[in-house]
Amino acid sequence: MNFQNAEFEMAAGTAGQLPKATLPEIAFSGRSNVGKSSLLNRLVNRKALARTSATPGKTATINFYRLPACRFVDLPGYGYARVSKSEKNRWAELVNGYFTQERRLSLVLQLVDMRHKPTADDLQMIDFLQAGGYPFAIVCTKSDKLNKSETMAQTKLFTELFSGRGIAFYPFSAVKGSGLDEVKALIERSIEG
Ligand code: GDP
Repeated sequence: MNFQNAEFEMAAGTAGQLPKATLPEIAFSGRSNVGKSSLLNRLVNRKALARTSATPGKTATINFYRLPACRFVDLPGYGYARVSKSEKNRWAELVNGYFTQERRLSLVLQLVDMRHKPTADDLQMIDFLQAGGYPFAIVCTKSDKLNKSETMAQTKLFTELFSGRGIAFYPFSAVKGSGLDEVKALIERSIEG
């Protein structure tokens, strides 16, 4: 699949603004600052298709990127502490709206920071995806920030947390590009399958 010809399509601030589900969609989910924009930019080999956030939690829209064979759907980041209750409710309404619509969802990539234990919000999102039967996998971001023994310890943790539940996880570094081919292959398989 050609990942290069990606163009920003639109931003939806409410569920009513979501575009018609005409193409297979790959959705990207994760807490603010987890490295979602960096992954998106790596995938499409662009410096700044998706804006890497200087102010975490600012993106409260669902952003759509058009590729030749699919759409990338950048879900708004969650878990930013300094967000008002009404803003949190808006997030929930928007994201729930996306997941409850009839869409051609091929895959959700759920990002978690490889350096840490998944947050309560991460685990809630993962439970939601699994309970809803959505096709998803976990991408463990910032893998370059771990040394060898930390990598082993975190791999053990993620294996314990997820492998028993049949959930696959993929270490990834936007800085080094490691894991990029695996994530691309996963996306391609999800669209073909
Ligand atoms: P977003 O809020 O989830 O879109 O996160 P960003 O992509 O904006 O990344 C948040 C911060 O983490 C930025 O300072 C990035 O440079 C940094 N970052 C993202 N991915 C990586 C990575 O793989 N390795 C390292 N070392 N830093 C990363």
